[in-house]
Amino acid sequence: WACFKLGVFVCLNCSGIHRNLSSRVKSIRLDFWEDELVEFMKSAGNAKARALYEKAIPPFYYRPQENDCNVLREQWIRAKYQRMEFSGETKYPPLSYTTGFYEGILWKKGKNNMQFQKRKFILSEREFTLTYYNKQDESKGPKAVISIKDLNATFQPQKIGHPHGLQISYQGDDHIRNLYVYHEGSEEIVSWYNAIRAARYAYLKTAYPTGSNEELVPKITRNYLKEGYMEKTGPLQKEAFKKRWFILDSENRKLLYLRDKLDAEELGVLFIGTESNGYSIKACAPKHARGN
Ligand SMILES: [Zn+2]
Repeated sequence: WACFKLGVFVCLNCSGIHRNLSSRVKSIRLDFWEDELVEFMKSAGNAKARALYEKAIPPFYYRPQENDCNVLREQWIRAKYQRMEFSGETKYPPLSYTTGFYEGILWKKGKNNMQFQKRKFILSEREFTLTYYNKQDESKGPKAVISIKDLNATFQPQKIGHPHGLQISYQGDDHIRNLYVYHEGSEEIVSWYNAIRAARYAYLKTAYPTGSNEELVPKITRNYLKEGYMEKTGPLQKEAFKKRWFILDSENRKLLYLRDKLDAEELGVLFIGTESNGYSIKACAPKHARGN
């Protein structure tokens, strides 16, 4: 597929997004191509577009992959081509996710129920914290002040049941604590995500001053490698099988299981192998493996 106003070639998935943004899209094979358009596409092309539209992408900014959710891919295309956020020109006012401070209201799922309530969140890169308040009344103080140190954020539209659903996880006292949030605005939720990534990146730069971007960027946030229901029995293996939600997390080779998929905390965790014996968990399929 080709966006013949921008002069770039895109995949089928992205062509749909470009069409919605009314950048004109043609099929390379099925549509009629005037000679002038062919000449224009020859003179333009993806490399030239990258030089212009991807001149200055902040290292922490998430580049969506093919399998990423729609909100990430759509906002990437809007940020790149429509808002020209990566063109390298100084923006005034500065882009919200680059300022080191982000404040706003997110819908947050209750810890023990399925209701989403509006909660105020404040992200501070200076303090390396994400804070949220339980009531609109802030005088009672924050409900939680979360350290950026071991915080993760990952889009989970299917699991949360909202196209902008974001899972924020962090190390609690003896459990991982999961927050499930969304914002109605697609630009807003992706800005939150990249603001969190910016703060994580700043933290990693402080914690590992000699780390290169190649080493640090993959540590900013991570998507879980696999999730879903399985049934498990107990330690005696005489217990009845119970349905649990399992999450495979590459960080520390963890297999977590939860009573249900939107629980605040896990019931248990298994560590797969040991790092000293060379175990790691990666997103790849062995040769001849069947798809999952
Ligand atoms: Zn694409």
